Amino acid sequence: MEKDIFCKIIDGEVPCYKLYEDNSVLAFLDISQVTKGHALVISKNHYDNFLSVPKEEMHKVMDVAQMIGQIAIKFLGAQGVNILTNCYEAAGQTVNHFHVHVIPRYANGDGFILTMKNNAEGLNLPAIAEVFKDQLKK
Ligand code: 5GP
Repeated sequence: MEKDIFCKIIDGEVPCYKLYEDNSVLAFLDISQVTKGHALVISKNHYDNFLSVPKEEMHKVMDVAQMIGQIAIKFLGAQGVNILTNCYEAAGQTVNHFHVHVIPRYANGDGFILTMKNNAEGLNLPAIAEVFKDQLKK
């Protein structure tokens, strides 16, 4: 199977601006820089996305994402940070290797647009909540 681009970065076959590395986690600047300091934090082991990564590795990645977010606020002049992870194509995932985006935010018009409309009208919220509750108590 062909290596994905992040496996190539981990193996040193593709260069990156590395921010942090340990046995399980690698963090580097996203090539697209949606905003200044846009970083990616990835697991070194290959998992397709957040939904399939084992908890321990997911927690290690999130620890590093938190630190990078804190640094962006303290030292890059960011006023906010979006931490997000896309799972599957429908959610915008383009690289099938678990990764978390840390996107520093500066002000309106900083290049990152996230719109969350209120589409609750007409939905049966108690029924939807039941589906999750039923599965979560198992
Ligand atoms: P996704 O859309 O899967 O959530 O995000 C994948 C991200 O990987 C994109 O923001 C894209 O800019 C970044 N990316 C893709 N190829 C490379 C690369 O070769 N180097 C770096 N540093 N980032 C990459």
